Amino acid sequence: MSILAQHKYPSKYHVHTCHSPLLRTRVYCSTTTTTTTKPKPNLEQLVIEPQLNPSPNLVTSAPNRPIFNDPSLRSTWSHRAWVASGCTTVLISLAKATMGAAESHMWLEPILAGLVGYILADLGSGVYHWGIDNYGSASTPIFGSQIDAFQGHHKWPWTITRRQFANNLHSLARAVTFTVLPLDLASNDPMFHGFVGVCSGCIMFSQQFHAWAHTTKSRLPPLVAELQDVGLLVSRSQHAAHHRSPYNNNYCIVSGVWNEFLDKQMVFEALEMILFFKLGVRPRSWSEPSSEWTEEAETPSQIIGH
Ligand SMILES: [Zn+2]
Ligand SMILES: [Zn+2]
Repeated sequence: MSILAQHKYPSKYHVHTCHSPLLRTRVYCSTTTTTTTKPKPNLEQLVIEPQLNPSPNLVTSAPNRPIFNDPSLRSTWSHRAWVASGCTTVLISLAKATMGAAESHMWLEPILAGLVGYILADLGSGVYHWGIDNYGSASTPIFGSQIDAFQGHHKWPWTITRRQFANNLHSLARAVTFTVLPLDLASNDPMFHGFVGVCSGCIMFSQQFHAWAHTTKSRLPPLVAELQDVGLLVSRSQHAAHHRSPYNNNYCIVSGVWNEFLDKQMVFEALEMILFFKLGVRPRSWSEPSSEWTEEAETPSQIIGH
């Protein structure tokens, strides 16, 4: 969704229009300053006039509202095929790491490489999530459907817990297939595959970890709740902060280990400033608070599905 500044008002007033099939919002900014936990450049009080349009990606009972048992949340055979191919390429990589380590009797390096892969997968998930949350639109090449899906996720976070497994993972599984398959064919190095296998596996399953972060503890498998509590998987409380104002933190969704550092050091804010001054592109999070970030309450028909 692109947010365009139209300079037909005096310099202290701007109109931003979101051109999205999901939501068309006109945001009028005045000069009155609001206080947020993280001040951002030119953050101004916003008056929002939402004009809702139906999303092309969601079958709805009313405009914009996914319903319980929504067909768009179900897995198709093509989703399952992509998840199977993604898992196969990751398992080949892990098998090469294990067999290479067993043959050479050198286990430490592949294990350490796997640990680095796990830690960097969390960073990668944060950078990717920040990018698609803040830039581009449904019509962006390659990433358009992911951008549209993540914008829908901010509007209706609860849908991720209703999304079937392969439906939730297939986009990342496809990317993993295309990236890891050539690496499987090109190398037999156990250390390299220790890194690639763990990192790509964590990235592919990051959407499952994300779904678990939206699931109430009583509905989680006990082991998953345990892994969240010890910080090996992104916690529910940490990710809940991502869905609260000012909507510009806690982007990492594997272990969440990078979130505190990235947010305290304002790494994404620095990248946003660089992109703004180099390219003139404003991230969506600067237009917060906006109805496109705000969660919609579930309707009675959706609650029935719990
Ligand atoms: Zn997000
Ligand atoms: Zn979420």
